[in-house]
Amino acid sequence: MYKRLGSLVSYSYVHNSKLLTQKHFRFIHSEIEPTMSTTSGLVIPCKAAIAWEAGKPLVIEQVEVAPPQAMEVRIKIKYTSLCHTDLYFWEAKGQNPLFPRIFGHEAAGVVESVGEGVSDLQVGDHVLPVFTGECGDCRHCKSEESNMCDLLRINTDRGVMLNDGKSRFSISGTPINHFLGTSTFSEYTVIHSGCLAKISPLAPLDKVCILSCGISTGLGATLNVAKPKKGSTVAVFGLGAVGLAAAEGARIAGASRIIGIDLNPKRYEEAKKFGVTEFVNPKDHDRPVQEVIAEMTNGGVDRSIECTGNINAMISAFECVHDGWGVAVLVGVPNKDAVFMTKPIIVLNERTLKGTFFGNYKPRTDLPSVVDMYMNKKLEVEKFITHRVPFSDINKAFEYMLKGEGLRCIISMEE
Ligand code: NAD
Ligand code: ZN
Repeated sequence: MYKRLGSLVSYSYVHNSKLLTQKHFRFIHSEIEPTMSTTSGLVIPCKAAIAWEAGKPLVIEQVEVAPPQAMEVRIKIKYTSLCHTDLYFWEAKGQNPLFPRIFGHEAAGVVESVGEGVSDLQVGDHVLPVFTGECGDCRHCKSEESNMCDLLRINTDRGVMLNDGKSRFSISGTPINHFLGTSTFSEYTVIHSGCLAKISPLAPLDKVCILSCGISTGLGATLNVAKPKKGSTVAVFGLGAVGLAAAEGARIAGASRIIGIDLNPKRYEEAKKFGVTEFVNPKDHDRPVQEVIAEMTNGGVDRSIECTGNINAMISAFECVHDGWGVAVLVGVPNKDAVFMTKPIIVLNERTLKGTFFGNYKPRTDLPSVVDMYMNKKLEVEKFITHRVPFSDINKAFEYMLKGEGLRCIISMEE
């Protein structure tokens, strides 16, 4: 079958699908597609959702996507979803504005072509893009304790590729900025190979796309950083997808009490599905929520995980852990001018404050195993997916998040 791709023609393979199962089909398709692609090395015109101005609806228009350069990969995005970090930078309230820009960083796709020097990814591989990368060579990548790669760690202010300091996206010659090195709100995007995790070709991309950021972040914040012991008490601040993934981690770790804290009372019903046993709304109390939690738990929780991005919640999350052993983990992305203030005596009394990016998972090394946790039914991903929209309705995903409705909205690029 011939398929038109802008002004280019490419082949795609057609199976006699009656003879094959869906899984076989997906697997064979991913192997066969590569040799038939004719777009390699060419500019691809395709649709992308452009943010021209802060807080204004995205506009879907044709962009030109340049071929990948050295150590870069061009991928065809199949599904993407919206994470709060996209929303913050799109609103640009308290963040550096950089427009026009193509947002999006939580996604799944298929490799279309690879640049010079890329040896571990091939055309047709199924991949998850990640906002922070793993070069494999720096001190951080070589350390067992860190995922803060020197070369590819998250950079929210950069709108260009590292290789030449230029964008791979343009509209009539005007460059469009990248976001987090991923820009997944585009049918095709160019990403550094160190920011792509190769995953099982059997994993359903319309589900595992949410493991590319939010869910792995929350899960890892609990399992890799807070590390609650079996039977312990865990507080989770913010019951969006990231916080509920942190609660999921607490449930997997065997926590006996999981206390959910959110300003939005609608979150509680949903949170019960994730093992949250108690709910506290700071608005219902006329004293700091850390005092309420300390009273509920005979002095404080064993672990707390903050997933709101709100500075007051960060301080409460730290101050509500028990002295002697309590550990608080910050996950939310704060306003760039926010300052964390607490009394040093609260730290001195043997409380620990930690922070994490991407749940301390090394993207390329560890993410495939998070996908396998889903494939082996240890991790439930479906319960995070509350909405689905076609790419043409991408602004609806923003509306749902602004209204605090649902958890994750999957945006399907092919509808
Ligand atoms: P979300 O908007 O779906 O959920 C955030 C929740 O926090 C909401 O339910 C909101 O009502 C609640 N909230 C806000 N202020 C609060 C307060 N003061 N007290 C209690 N609850 C409050 O967002 P999400 O997609 O789940 O992301 C959560 C945070 O994690 C965001 O800040 C996002 O930018 C950040 N994030 C960080 C990383 C990382 O690697 N560190 C990765 C992904 C996302
Ligand atoms: Zn590195």
